[in-house]
Formats: sequence, structure tokens, C-alpha cells
Amino acid sequence: MHLIIAEKNISANRIAQILAGNEKVRAVKDGGVATYPFDAKTVVGLKGHVVEVDFEPGYTNWRSATRTPRTLIDAGTIKKPTEKKIVNLIQKLAKKADLVTIATDYDTEGELIGKEAYELVRAVNPSVKINRARFSAITPAEIRSAFESPTDLDFALAAAGEARQVVDLMWGASLTRFISLAARRGGRNILSVGRVQSPTLAMIVEREREIESFIPQTYWMLSLMTEKDGQPVEARHTTGRFTDHEEALAAEAGTKEPLVVTDIKEGKKNDRAPTPFDTTTFIVAASRLGLSAANAMRIAEDLYMNGYISYPRTDNTVYPKSLDLNAILNTLKGGVFDADIAWVQKNRRPVPTRGKKESTDHPPIHPTGAATREALGQDRWKVYELVVRRFLATLSPDATWATIRCTFDASGEPYAATGSRLLSAGWRQVYPYSEAKEKILPVLTAGEHLPLKDVNLEEKQTQPPPRYSQSRLIQVMEELGLGTKSTRHEVIGKLISRRYVEGNPLRPTLVGRAVTDALDNHASTITDPEMTRTLEEHMQLIKQSERSREDIVTESREMLHRVFDNLEAHEEEIGEEIMEQTAEEHTVGPCPVCGHDLRIRHIGVSQFIGCTGYPECRFNISLPGSTWGRAIRLDETCEKHGLSHVSLIRKGTRPWVIGCPLCSHIESNTEALRMMPSMTDDLIQRLHAHHIYTVSEIANKEPAELKKALEIKEADHLIREAADALEILRHRSELKKFIRKVVPPRRGRSHAKITRSLVEQGIGDIHALSQAAPAVLKKAGIGDAGATELLDAARALCNERALRDAGVPAVSLKKYIAGGVASPDDFCYLPIPYLSIKTGINPETVHKHVDLVCSYLGRPTPEKITRTALERGRKELLAIPGIGEATVQKLYLAGIYDAATLREADPKKISPIIGIAEARLHDYIGHVK
Ligand SMILES: [Zn+2]
Ligand SMILES: [Zn+2]
Repeated sequence: MHLIIAEKNISANRIAQILAGNEKVRAVKDGGVATYPFDAKTVVGLKGHVVEVDFEPGYTNWRSATRTPRTLIDAGTIKKPTEKKIVNLIQKLAKKADLVTIATDYDTEGELIGKEAYELVRAVNPSVKINRARFSAITPAEIRSAFESPTDLDFALAAAGEARQVVDLMWGASLTRFISLAARRGGRNILSVGRVQSPTLAMIVEREREIESFIPQTYWMLSLMTEKDGQPVEARHTTGRFTDHEEALAAEAGTKEPLVVTDIKEGKKNDRAPTPFDTTTFIVAASRLGLSAANAMRIAEDLYMNGYISYPRTDNTVYPKSLDLNAILNTLKGGVFDADIAWVQKNRRPVPTRGKKESTDHPPIHPTGAATREALGQDRWKVYELVVRRFLATLSPDATWATIRCTFDASGEPYAATGSRLLSAGWRQVYPYSEAKEKILPVLTAGEHLPLKDVNLEEKQTQPPPRYSQSRLIQVMEELGLGTKSTRHEVIGKLISRRYVEGNPLRPTLVGRAVTDALDNHASTITDPEMTRTLEEHMQLIKQSERSREDIVTESREMLHRVFDNLEAHEEEIGEEIMEQTAEEHTVGPCPVCGHDLRIRHIGVSQFIGCTGYPECRFNISLPGSTWGRAIRLDETCEKHGLSHVSLIRKGTRPWVIGCPLCSHIESNTEALRMMPSMTDDLIQRLHAHHIYTVSEIANKEPAELKKALEIKEADHLIREAADALEILRHRSELKKFIRKVVPPRRGRSHAKITRSLVEQGIGDIHALSQAAPAVLKKAGIGDAGATELLDAARALCNERALRDAGVPAVSLKKYIAGGVASPDDFCYLPIPYLSIKTGINPETVHKHVDLVCSYLGRPTPEKITRTALERGRKELLAIPGIGEATVQKLYLAGIYDAATLREADPKKISPIIGIAEARLHDYIGHVK
């Protein structure tokens, strides 16, 4: 069997369809993984990497005294499977294979993924022949030729990828741990540091600093308006920017008629057709269509896997000679591009445009198959069309412009106006993404006098450098050698998801700045692009087999050890610097009680706003738990309280904006305060003035203190009322929790809404709920089935509670419930022998429980029955012909447990209770009489 291993499932599917020719290959699941068998071949897709590099076991404890962050530098690494099902399947198939072809993507990452597959195969089948198919597009022509002339795996290329993996793991893990521990951060708040990520972040921080320290300069621009044949013409003073106001004013004053045309220069300008797309220029162009870098790449990869475009990770901007451009044009025919293709074929430039970078692995990004808007959907079509049009543009002639520059003299002050007109549209015909703006001047002749219509002096200011957009940042990263075509957009994504940067254009957050500053101050190697660029150069050397992987990794280890020498010597300072700078990120504003800072605190899943004056000041505001979203500070502040607004953010949902935490605190507690009978608006105002916002704060105050603060005669009653209100609130919140547990959530029917409706209808706790009428529940939005379930659950809970309150021990209670004895009434009315047999609890203990429950309910306790009596009675009953165990149980229900009780029984009365015919009961009684 010939096993073919592709990079992803989707490419496996396409490769199978292409190799199988016309027949349609169907997916067959094997061990939960899709395979594509045909003839004597099986194609399987990986999920990119199916193994990952990690440290040897023993390094998971961050706070280990011996395995410090530094020890991670020299820690051994292992490869462990991340996709067990696929790994198992590959090895199962590899055992049966007589040929294996690795058909992963063709670049460093793909080669490494291929090598991982190679090692999996070799581990179970040391002798099978393994070859490699290389292609830049998943099209029939490329795939067939790749499989007709396979090559070998490029171990040097894979080794470069492996070196990068190990170096990235070692830098990232050791530094992330060190910095996080120094700044006392753990869990979801760790501060990640990375080999490419940190220098990239540093650039964004640096730019922000430039913007902040920028001092704008004022300058002046002078222009005049004239006209010819009714067509207005604007001309600018040839000085351009006046930096001296006096000079500008003098020039303005000197601008007078006569206004004479002094010179006219006409010219022609070439507007070069754009060069083929590499990854970076593609991302920049896609960003103009409103797509983020990550999105553009995701869509491009999707189009590649489906055979619509070539491999989108490439540094090449020159079409290789082997690429059949005519064939591509023909492939695209038969759709919406027909007119454009025909135009390009007619006006084709002699050689296609070429960019500065030429490499041999992949061609520039180009279309490989025809598609329709309907088949692709909006976003994919947008990207596909861009790639097609770019391809067409690179084959089109340059555009040409006629230019004209006209100079004027206004009584000694020199002015100029320029115009441009498109002579031939060239590539612009097929590539409408950049606008061609014409500026037409009227026909003028030298010496001609024109009217001076207006003179305009404008004051302007120089602008700071702009923040980086994602696509601009990718360009700069490329210039600096940061990251690769495959990773740059991912690095930016990580900076955003780790909340180091935000917004578009990108700006650093407080944390992003704090970490960068600390690293800059103590280990600038990490934020300097130099180090990471050196590594990229080393990767090239490994690829060319000029240096070994081990050699490069060792060098990187040494570099990292030097970094740690510095870091460890300043650990405390680094931690303090970061903590000091990031404290602000959680600070909400001044405490209304003592004036210290209020800060958002996270403890486990609970979060609240507490005062930094704690424990002297105990002021705090509770917030919903972090399962609702993590509390963060917003930029807006409350005018009344001077506190920053707060919002809860959770991945995948819209943020829950709480607003001013104190306003929200007051609002959510006012209703509760009003539950106190003596509460008045005036009293609420006075309470707020003393920073008392909640019922529980009143309930916990000393009467004397409260009396003095509110200037009232007596405070005891207020405290009592507060305690009562608190009790009611406790019941309501318990009710709400209960409803949340029982009633499944549904759109438009929140648990809070149900509870509110119940409370309005007088159902304020679970006990009231257990006795509620179905109509009440219906009004609260609960249907019939739901109502039954809710009532049953409420009753069960109330019964259980009553029994516990009566003193029935928890262990026995479980047995009673399991035996179907659930309500306190059951204890009083069911005979003890029955209770005992149903639960397996000995009758004397049952009697004790029954006594507890009956006295709790104020009812008489039935007589005790000993175990011996019960045992003896059972034997007496079983001795009667026709009575077996089942009948004994039935008789127990009627309180009959021995010959004596049977003798006194009234068959007419008990027959319907226990379901034994009267005649038979008479029969039994006859035996004992
Ligand atoms: Zn305080
Ligand atoms: Zn407020």
C-alpha cells in the first residue's frame, strides 16, 4: 500500500481526488480520522504539527527552588503527540505500507511537519521507502508532476525549523516564567515574553513614546486662487512651508495683481504596474480591503487548500520561468474576468513585472483555478479577486500620465500649480484598488495675465509619526528580519490576545509598556531586533547545511544565559518596576471613604473593587464573578464620583459594561434599602453621605454610631429592619440560585427575570415556591412541564430541609429518600415496620427518627417496635399459608406486622390501601384466630 501524508485533511482530500483521476474518492473514517483510499493508495491529512516540543517531565512547577526559570535554558526537550488519533492512525497504516510519500506544504514549517511524520513512520517501519512530493499549488498539473518525480525529505530545511522550535521554547518559557514570577503574576495574568514577540512589542511602545514626546511645530501655507475661462485654478507659493510667521504675512501682503503666467513645463510620467504578491505585499493590499493580517492569511490558506490560489507563504516576488502564465490566463477564462483577461492578452507587456526579492521555493502568490463569487462567499471572493487582479496587473503595461507644471508671478511672489492627466490606464484598467486621481489645468500660455481671485494663508501644525497599522507593522518586521512570512501575522495576533496592544492602529497597553520597559532596562537583548534577526540568519545557514542545528541552539543558550545573568541580578527591581507601572491598570479612582486608591481585585473566580487603605478602610464594591467576564477599567470616568467605568470582558461575547462601579453599586442597592419600612429618600441621602450603601452595612453598624451619623433619635429599629430586609434578600437570592439550577436557560427568559416575576407575585423563597399555584409559574414564563419539575424539585428540597431541621441525620436521610420516603408527613403516617423495610434502617432507629419528626411537627409519636418483636412477627406472618415476603411488605404498609395486629385488622378498610383482596385478608385472619 502506498501511504500519502498531506499537511491537512482538506489538502489530503484534494490530493486524493486529483491523483485518482475522474473517480470520486470517498472519505473512510479510521480511528476517528478521515482517510482517502483508492487503488492501492491511501491519503491521510495531518493537522499541521501532530507532535509538539516540550521540556522533559519535571519542569511544570513554576515555583520550584531547584528548577528555576534559568534551568529551562538547558532542560532537555522531548516531542510528544498532540493529535493522538492521527499519530496512531499514521503508525497503523505505516506498518502495512510499502511506500510512503510526504506531501506536506513546501516550506520550512511544512518540511518540519513532514519530518515529524517521517519519524512516526520510521518508528514502526524502519525499512519502508519514504519520499517527498513538493508543490506550490494544489492543482492537477502541479500535484501530478510532484508525484511523478518525487524527491527526498530535506533534512537540513527541517533542522532549521527544529532549531527555531527549540530556541523559541527555551527563550519564551524561561523568560515568561522569570518575568511573571518577578512581577508576582500567575494564572491568566502571566506576562509572556517571546523571541519575536518582545522586539515587535518594543517597536510599538517606542512609536508611542515618539508620539507622546512629539512637539508640534506651527507652519504656514500660502496659496492663491485664479481662474481661466471660468475654471478655477489653485496655485501654491513655491516656498512651501513657511516656518516664520512674519515671512508668511509679508508674502501674503506681497501677493498682488498683476498675476502673470511665467512658465509652462509639460512632461510624461510612467506609473509602473505593481509587482507580484509575496506574503507581505499581499497582506498590505488585503488590509486596504478591511481584512486584518490574520484574517487575510486564514482566507488565503483556505483558498490554497481548495486549489484556487498558490501557496500564500512566500518571499518571492519574481515569477519563475517554469510558471506557465498563459496557461493560468486560460484557466481563469469563462467567468467574470473574461473581458479583463482578453484586454490583458491583447495589451500584454513583454515581460511580467518583477519585485526585488527572488527565491526558489515558491512562486509569488497567483491564482491557480477558476472560481465564482457564489461558490466562495463574500470574503473569500474578495481575497480571490484581489489575487486574480494583481496577477493580471503584473502582466499589463504601465500606466502613463501627462504632467504639467505652471509657474506664476504675483508682483514678485512666485507660485506654481501642477496638473496631471491619465494618458493610458495600463494596469489600472484591471486593478482598481488604487485610485488614479486626475487634476486637469486649463490651457495656459506664458505671459498671460490672470485675475487674482483670492489669497489664502493657512496655519498648520506638524504631525507626530502615525501609529502602526497591522499591515505596516508586518512590513517593518520584514525589513528588520523579525519573524517569518508564516509567523508575522500570528505574532501580532498574540500581542493582541495577551492584551499587550490594542486598537487599530496598534497602541500599547499599560502592561505592554511596563514589560517592555523592564526588559529594555535590564535585558535589552530581548527587545532588540538584532538577536532575533541573527537567529533568522542562522536558520539560513542550517538550511544550507553550513552550520548544524546543535551548534546554533548552543549559541542561543549561551546568549540566553548572559541575559539571565543580568535579569537575576535585578529580579527585585524588575518586579517592582512592572508592578508599579501596571498598578494603574487596575486603579479605578479615589475611595469615597478615605481617599486611597480603589482597585479591581481578582481572587479566584471572585472579583471586587477594594480600597488600598484596607484593613483600616473596609470600603468595597462587589462585582459579578469572573465567569461573567473579567473586570477591566475603561477610559471613561464618572463625573459624580471621579471613578473609572468598569466592564466585564469574556472571549466570544459582547462586553458587559457596568459603568461607574459606585453608581451601579448605589443603584443595585437602593431597592433593597427601600424594603426597610422606615426608609425615606432623605435618609438614603444621609446614608450615602456617610458612605453607607447597603442593607448589610446598616445591619452591621453599632446603634450609637449610626445614630450619630444620621442625626436620628434612635437607630435600633433601623438596624432591626435592615436585618429583616437582609433575611428576605437572602431568601430571594437563594430562590434565584435554585431556579438557575433547575430551569434550563433560554433566550429571552433570564433567571433574574423569572425570579423578579415570582417575587412580584409574593413568592419570595423556596418554601413559598413549593406551594405556588401553577398559574403563578406560568405568569413567570415557565411552561406546564417546567412548572411540574420546578415544584417537585422545590418540594423535595423543602422536605429534605424540614427533615434535617427536625434532626434526622444526613446519612439516614439519604436512605429514606432512596427508599421513597421523602416528606415529613410520611414519617408521621407510615408505619414503622414499613419505613424500616423500605430503608433497611433498624426499627428502633426508625422510631427515634419518627419521634424527632413528629415532635418537630407537633404531632403524637407512634409506639415503638423493637427489632425482636418485628422479627418474631415476620415469622408468624410467613407461617400463614399464602403469605410470602411481598405480602409481608404490603401488610407492613397497613401497620400489620405480627399475628396480633393481623387479628385486629379491618379487611374492608385496609384492602384498598395495600391492594390485597378482602377475601384473602379474611382468609389470613382466619388462620390466626
Ligand atoms: Zn478607603
Ligand atoms: Zn458614579
